[in-house]
Formats: sequence, structure tokens, C-alpha cells
Amino acid sequence: MEKKPVKVLVIEDDPNYFILVNERLSLSHDPVFEIIRSKHMQSGLERLKDGDIDIVLLDLMLPDSEGIHSFTTVHNAFPSVPVIILTSVDDDELAGRAIGLGAQDYLTKGSFDRELLVKSICYAISRHKVQAELQKYYQENERSKQTLQDRDERFRSLVSNIPGAVYRYTLEQSNKWNMEFISDMIMAISGLPSSVFIDRTIDAYFERVLPQDLPLLQEAFRKAVKEGSLFSVDYRIRHSSGDFRWVHDQGRAIQNTEGKVTHVDGVISDITERTREKERFKQLVSYDSLTSLPNRELFVDRLDQAIGQARRKKEIGAVLALDLDHFKRINDTLGHTIGDQLIKAVSVRLQKTLFDSDTITRISGGTFIILLPRIVKADHAENVANKILMAFKAPFLIHQHELFTACSIGIALFPNDGEASDILIKNADAAMHIAKERGKDRFQLYSSAIANNSFERLVLENSLRRALDRDEFRLYYQPQLDLRTGKSIGVEALIRWQHPDLGFIPPMEFIPIAEETGLIHSIGEWVLKTACEQKKIWDQQGFKYLRVSVNLSARQFHYANLVEMIDSVIKKTGIDPQDLDLELTESTIMEHLEETTETLRKLKDMGTHISIDDFGTGYSSLMYLKTFPIDTIKIDKSFVKDMTTDSDDQAITQAIISMAHSLKLDVVAEGVETKEQLELLKSQNCDIIQGYLFSRPIPADDIPPLLLNGAAKKILA
Ligand code: C2E
Ligand code: CA
Ligand code: CA
Repeated sequence: MEKKPVKVLVIEDDPNYFILVNERLSLSHDPVFEIIRSKHMQSGLERLKDGDIDIVLLDLMLPDSEGIHSFTTVHNAFPSVPVIILTSVDDDELAGRAIGLGAQDYLTKGSFDRELLVKSICYAISRHKVQAELQKYYQENERSKQTLQDRDERFRSLVSNIPGAVYRYTLEQSNKWNMEFISDMIMAISGLPSSVFIDRTIDAYFERVLPQDLPLLQEAFRKAVKEGSLFSVDYRIRHSSGDFRWVHDQGRAIQNTEGKVTHVDGVISDITERTREKERFKQLVSYDSLTSLPNRELFVDRLDQAIGQARRKKEIGAVLALDLDHFKRINDTLGHTIGDQLIKAVSVRLQKTLFDSDTITRISGGTFIILLPRIVKADHAENVANKILMAFKAPFLIHQHELFTACSIGIALFPNDGEASDILIKNADAAMHIAKERGKDRFQLYSSAIANNSFERLVLENSLRRALDRDEFRLYYQPQLDLRTGKSIGVEALIRWQHPDLGFIPPMEFIPIAEETGLIHSIGEWVLKTACEQKKIWDQQGFKYLRVSVNLSARQFHYANLVEMIDSVIKKTGIDPQDLDLELTESTIMEHLEETTETLRKLKDMGTHISIDDFGTGYSSLMYLKTFPIDTIKIDKSFVKDMTTDSDDQAITQAIISMAHSLKLDVVAEGVETKEQLELLKSQNCDIIQGYLFSRPIPADDIPPLLLNGAAKKILA
């Protein structure tokens, strides 16, 4: 036989909570719930008139009714329908008052897991039934001296269905309260059979109550008897095992026809689990004070739910780990106040970019994790990651300053990349770190990263160790064109790795590995030596004016012997230090300001030329730039790429050029590919260009012919 669904009327205006309740109840099979929603008190009352509602879940703060009044309105109009109050976290007191007035229970919004919600509804319905039954019974048998137990089988079976201990006290001639009846459920709560309490005075029961909680109960009882009203208290009972249990005791003083209170009926329910649940929830609801995002516990709670749901419904979800690129540097150079403001602004932007059903939490500094609870297809997570990366392209406005920050994102999908919350978070984090290694400002899927990465990486790492010995590296050179003279003034040395089996491997793929493994030191030394030797050859061929640029990576730069190494190579090859240009990126400089400044100073003293590479991609303070002994700024190719179509990029290149000139620095524009870009840069007074328009990086031997064939003239004509 089909069971009749339990009809639940949810009177709640906040759609989020309604969705939450609805979602959890709709998962229940036993009983099955039919959920009806009203957004206002008025429509709720209208709906109740149909007489088919089994229980009401009531929000006390509605558009057309507020506070305790909301409860009394419903309760007075429909006393036969049990009501559970939905409260927000800090409304416990209000909810307590509602219970004193006859509400069955209250639930803190958001705290209830499915089981708790279902239990609470079932308990409330059966408790309400018993209370009504008791009242009716008492009215019918007012004069009867027989005990409840003997009298009514119907009553007994009803009582045994209640998940709480139903009791009745009777006022004796002696003016003592006597426990006339208590159902067998007291055994589960106290570990003692009902016979221990029945026909004994109330003190036998009071003895089981924890002494510190007893006054609370006694006072509530006394007050209810005096006023002929309801009482409702939570307290602890000792269990025979030595443990204690939290109980919720809800009673009602019953008057005889003369208005004298002669009985107290009530139900004692075990709320130990629920209390623990509530405690846990208190912890859960603490939000990140800086961003007001949910904290990690709440995140994990939601992730657990999403994993469970995905498993049941055979769906997928995703966990994203997001870390701001160079956050530490921003903190170090601009101070924590700005850093904090940035975190706030980032969290606001993330919230705007994502759906309300997604959960974002911050786990440390500039690291966030994001839950996409339900995605249709795996690549949906990639779309979301792309959306976030795009959202970070606009500056963050902090104290009237525009800050740019990118981020790196790792994606783990469930159930594929893990079915436990901690593993998913760990895997998303690992993928995020790989995204960082691969150049930042990008996302990385855990599955593809790890599956290929570990093996691929191992192969690369091993062959990288041998590449130098096997002479697999080559240097290519890309010429730079001085727009003022129309002549080539220098070349940038760019490393190439020709792997015997894997073929050409781009520097962006192996330089990070070289850095991590420390191989960068020997590779870097080889590059410098080779470039300087080549420069010597060009000198002899009559290209004395050519400057050679060599890239230094961050790790190399923080190597204690760097200055000595460079000095010794210059001396050994006998080149003029002025003809050597060292390129280091903005981030390299800003990461370790103090030691960088010192090293730069030493290099400058040696006489080398110094350039800042990839300028504009990191965060540089102009103030710092002024204090560095640098000669040239290289505008990153990403700005050049879009400058003919994007007016922002155009404004940026113009600003960099003007600023550099005011600091008496030369400007190189990188990645110039088209004539339009060249014209625009010329009009902006850019000094030097480098890019495919003039020449791709080419082998050393191809440089002299290029310089002599008049290619530069053609381009500039
Ligand atoms: P980078 O220092 O910014 O080098 C410029 C990159 O832009 C080079 O990529 C170059 O081939 C590319 N490029 C030049 N003109 C154009 C253009 O018109 N359009 C486009 N789309 N790209 C252009 P490459 O050679 O793949 O090098 C990538 C990065 O690897 C370099 O970026 C540099 O950071 C690093 N790298 C290369 N060689 C070395 C080296 O010897 N030592 C170190 N530490 N890093 C190196
Ligand atoms: Ca460079
Ligand atoms: Ca560059």
C-alpha cells in the first residue's frame, strides 16, 4: 500500500532556506513529504484553511508578520496543526518563547541535516497527536481513579509510538506531585525502567536530573502549575551507565473544571544528538571575519553533502583551489592592510562571478577553495575556471589604487578525482600548484595533470639532468630594432632544447623544472657562457655594437654565487660588460627586495646593463623602480598583443613608456607582430621593438645576414 505523503507547509520568504528545506525533505523516502510553500503569512493562513496540512515550518520573520506574533497567529487560528519554528542562529530566545506558547520544536536555519529535519518533523507530529489525545482523554475521564495504563489500550499504543517518554503527574491529597504514569521510553533515556518512577513522588525523578540543571526544571514546573500554563525546558539526566543525556521536557498544567491544577502532562525527548549537532553547527556557522565567507568547516560540511548527493544521483561536482599569484609580494611591499583589502575585494568578485549555490571559503592568505556542487559536464568546471580568470583581468580598486592580480586554479572533480572531502581538497590544491609551475594565471585539471604529469615529469627531469652533457641545448637569438636609429642594437638569447626522442621542448616547459630541481644554475651558466662566447665572435665579425641579452630566472638570481659566476664568465670570454644585458622579471625583483637590490647594485658596479622583463604583468611599485639601478624596461607582449584593439592596453603601454622616459629608462616593446602595432608604438615614442615582425629567434649564424640585408629599413619604411 502506498503511504500517504506528509504534507509540510513551509511559510518562509527567503528562497535560499526554502530550497535547502525542500532539497533535504525531497530526499526522504520514509516518510515521503509533499512540500507546499507560502511566502507570506496571509497566503500561509489561506492554505491552512484547506485542512490537509500535517505540519507547518514557520519562519518568524515574514514580510507581513514578525516575531512571536507570527507563531501565535498560526497557532491560534489552527491549534490542531503542529508548528516547527525556523530561526536564524541568534534567535534562540525567540524560538524558546514560541515553544513555551505551544510550538513543537525549532530548527536553526541551515544547521539541520536531512536526518535531523525528518526526525524533528516526525516527532513533532506524533508528539502533537499525543498531547491532543491526552487532553481529550483527561477531559473524558476526569473523575476516574484508574490509572492510564489500565484504562486505554488505544492510548498505550499511541504512547509507545512516541519517540519520547510520555508522563503524567497527579497532585495527591498530601499536596505532593506523584508520577502517575511514564511510558517505557524513559528506559532509553535514563537506563531505568518506568516502574522505578511510577507511583513515586516527583523527587524520585528529580534525583536523576543533573544538580546544576535541577533549579531550572523545578522553577519551570512550579511556574506552569501556578499559572496553569505550558513549560518547556532543556536539561540533563543521568543515565544508569554513568553518562548523561540531554532532554527536552515539554509539559502542560491541566486544570479541572474548578480551575484548579490537578495534573501535569508532558513528554521528555532525548535531544542529545541534536544538541551535539547544534554545538557542531555553532562551530560551523563561524564565518571568516575578513571576507564573511563560510569557514572551512562549513565548506567541508557542504562538500560532504554534495559528494553524497552526486553519488546518489550519479552526478558530478567540482572543487576548485584558487591562489592569488604573488599575493605575498603585495603583502610585503604594500603592507597587510592593503593585502586584506585585496582579499576582501577578491572574495566579492568571486561571489559575483559564481552562482549562489556555489560555496567559497578562504583557507589561508590568498588561497580560496570553491565548491561547484553540481555540474552537468566535466568541462563546465573549466568554463567556470575561465570565467574566474577573466574576472580577474579587471583591476581591483583599493584605496583609490588600481591593483592587478591574477590567480592560479586547480580543479578536482568528484567522484572521479576522489570521493572524500579532504582528498578532493588536497587534489585540487596539487593541481593548483601545477598551474603555478606552468606559469600562473591559468587553471589545471587534477586528472590530466597528475596522470600525465608524474610520468612525463619524471622523464623530463631525468633527461634534463643529462641534456647538458649530451649537448642538447642551443641558443637562438632574437634581434631588437631601435626605432630611433633604424638599426639593430641587440639580440636576446633564448634557449632551445632539442630532445632526441621528445623533439623540441619549449623553455616554458622545462625552465620551471630546471628551477625546481636546481639545474637552472648549471643551465644558466651554460647560457651565459655560450652567449658571451658568441658575442665575442660577432665582435670579431664587426658587429661590435650588438648587445647580448641573457635571461636570469628567479631562482638563479637568489643564488649566492651569481655575481661571481657572471664576473668570471665576463673575464674568461673577455667581452665588455657593457655589452651584456641581464634580463630579470618584475616578479624576480619584487620577491626578495632587499637581496635583489644588493645583487643588482653589484652587477651594476661590474658594468653590466640591466633590463626588467615582462613589465606590467606583476605588481611593481613605481617608487621602487626609481631606486633600482636599471637601464631598460621591456613591456610584456600581452599588452602589445591587444593594443590595437583594446584601448586599455594602449593606455597601459603609453603610461609605461612615459613613466620610463621620466625615469630616463629605455623601453623595449616585446612581441611586436604587426605593422599596426609598430606604428602605434612609434607614435607613443617607444624606443626599441622586438618581435616576429622584425625576426623570430634564429640561430647565431643567421644573425649577421639579417643585419646586413636591410630588413630593418623595409619594415620602418
Ligand atoms: P621571455 O624572456 O619573455 O622571452 C620572449 C619570448 O617571446 C620568447 O619565447 C620569444 O620566442 C617570444 N616572442 C618573441 N617575439 C614574439 C612575437 O612577436 N610574438 C610572440 N607570440 N612571441 C614572441 P621563448 O623563446 O619560448 O621563451 C619563453 C620564456 O622562457 C622567455 O620569455 C624566458 O622567460 C624563458 N627563457 C628563454 N630562454 C631562457 C634562458 O636562457 N634562461 C632563462 N632563465 N629563461 C629563459
Ligand atoms: Ca626575456
Ligand atoms: Ca619577456
